[in-house]
Amino acid sequence: MIDLRSDTVTQPTDGMRQAMVQAPVGDDVLGDDPTVNALEAYVAELLGKEAAVYMPSGTMTNQVALRSHTQPGDEILLESEAHIYYYEGGGPAALSGVSCRLLPGDGGAFTAAEVERHLRPVDPHFPRARLVCVENTHNRSGGRIFPLETIREIAQVCQQHDLQLHMDGARFWNACIATGISESVYAEPFDTLSVCFSKGLGAPVGSALVGSAEQMVKARRFRKMFGGGMRQAGMIAAGALYALQYQRDRLAEDHENAQRLARGLQGMKGVVIDPATVETNIVNFEVPGQPAAEVVKELAQQGVAVLATGPQRIRAVTNLMVTRGQVDQAVEAIAQTVGGTVPAFR
Ligand SMILES: *Cc1c(COP(=O)(O)O)cnc(C)c1O
Repeated sequence: MIDLRSDTVTQPTDGMRQAMVQAPVGDDVLGDDPTVNALEAYVAELLGKEAAVYMPSGTMTNQVALRSHTQPGDEILLESEAHIYYYEGGGPAALSGVSCRLLPGDGGAFTAAEVERHLRPVDPHFPRARLVCVENTHNRSGGRIFPLETIREIAQVCQQHDLQLHMDGARFWNACIATGISESVYAEPFDTLSVCFSKGLGAPVGSALVGSAEQMVKARRFRKMFGGGMRQAGMIAAGALYALQYQRDRLAEDHENAQRLARGLQGMKGVVIDPATVETNIVNFEVPGQPAAEVVKELAQQGVAVLATGPQRIRAVTNLMVTRGQVDQAVEAIAQTVGGTVPAFR
């Protein structure tokens, strides 16, 4: 099976498994796990922040961040299809008691002016706006990059209005590799960032929240409250540390493969795609006139796994497990399924 459903399907590599088996461990809730401590120190330094907290998932990392920045009744501002709002089970309302003020996005990005336009006066009638969340890269819009210049303008507005700024950086590594901007420069405007080890990086488990030492003390408390305190977590943290050190640069291959897939689909009969929107490792395309769910089923029979993310929309995500040759095979299978012909590669 050529598995393009997500970059979460990756298997640990041999070197990673070795590192995991050999990792020294301790009780992480008591602060004793040397491998978790090493991972947290490494990721904090990489992002130019004081501290980090390792957690079981990106969802928990985001939700702990929200809880640590807000009080019940507060409001957070984020893009209308942001993962925190769209895919986290109503977590903001259930776990933090906050309401979400949704901003219109263009490829997942919104402007500082849009943030200002949605801020209301400090007045007992209105919820207290406390936090702005940026998603980079943006999942629903197909791995689009949130431009650093725009982020800096948003950070200024946040400062003027006493708002915190959080990045949902599940695919932050992809944004850094694609733009050539270092992690610490990209992270500088943020109070907290959530970064993931189990997507494109290929580790089996975990994300980290990164920020000031003071903020991470709060986060550690909410991680425990939400049930995310782990014991000999060095076993899995070792995979994350290995991924950061040895599997980060290769994300460029995933981006090349995504471009190759997009070019292969461009001009194909029955497919609508704009390759200019493919900036990292996610390829969204439309199959007008055919139910996406049916196309997905037929492709699975041909050994290509993709996801339907809308009635006529399909998502394919290049990853560590998929070679360039397999991308070409996937293009061929899609051409056969939607009834088009395979165009020559440009
Ligand atoms: C996958 C993802 C998450 C959540 O990660 P999990 O580890 O699956 O909980 C958060 N934000 C974005 C943008 C994601 O793509």
